[in-house]
Amino acid sequence: MSSCTVCPRAAGEGLHACPHHAAELRAWLAELPVQAELLAEFVASSASPAQGRRGGGRAHSPAPVDWRVLALLGPGHADAQSPDDDGAPIRPLLGAWAGTIAYTYPAVYRDPHGTAHTAPCEAAHPRHGATITGWCAWLTAYLPYALTHPWVGDLHHQVATLIHRARAITGHHPDRHPYTAAPCPQCRAFGLVTVDGHGILCEACGYTAATQGVDPCPSPSPCLTTPTSPPSPTP
Ligand SMILES: [Zn+2]
Ligand SMILES: [Zn+2]
Repeated sequence: MSSCTVCPRAAGEGLHACPHHAAELRAWLAELPVQAELLAEFVASSASPAQGRRGGGRAHSPAPVDWRVLALLGPGHADAQSPDDDGAPIRPLLGAWAGTIAYTYPAVYRDPHGTAHTAPCEAAHPRHGATITGWCAWLTAYLPYALTHPWVGDLHHQVATLIHRARAITGHHPDRHPYTAAPCPQCRAFGLVTVDGHGILCEACGYTAATQGVDPCPSPSPCLTTPTSPPSPTP
């Protein structure tokens, strides 16, 4: 049995994150679009004319936007697995990770003669668009695959950094409520909590109702371009 790349706990056979940290990463990918929406409100409110200043000499007197908001929502470039990229914007960093995963994901494709081949994909193609929400959905769909690689610890670290930077600005933390009606179905401890927007999870072993029965990929490579197709440039 391998161990978690984040903590000393054991990970499942062939996996590199324990159930607790796998569930945490999944929950953060669900939380990031919410945090991004809250951050966008900071930009919108500072872009609108300040109250009481209409009719002055200038049409707009916008308040300065917190540079930390721009650093998170901005465009730009990010490197997955780069230890120096703790200040990367959200969307480029998620896109870089999707690219890294796609380059290692073994997709089956057929050549013009109908022979099946397996080769890494050339690009990640988010079905819901190359937005923060689109990339979070993509990464969630491929999380079971990412968990089988040692670099999932780097992914966990970088998404953690994004979440903590966003929470520091928005002040929004998903609320946790103890759930004492039943023990955890996996470890039998009374460690279940309900987390806003994320359902029920066990703080003792990482069990989460949301992770049960999730297909590693909803359908054959729906989110990737296979080597027979031209790589789709993602903005
Ligand atoms: Zn762990
Ligand atoms: Zn448990």
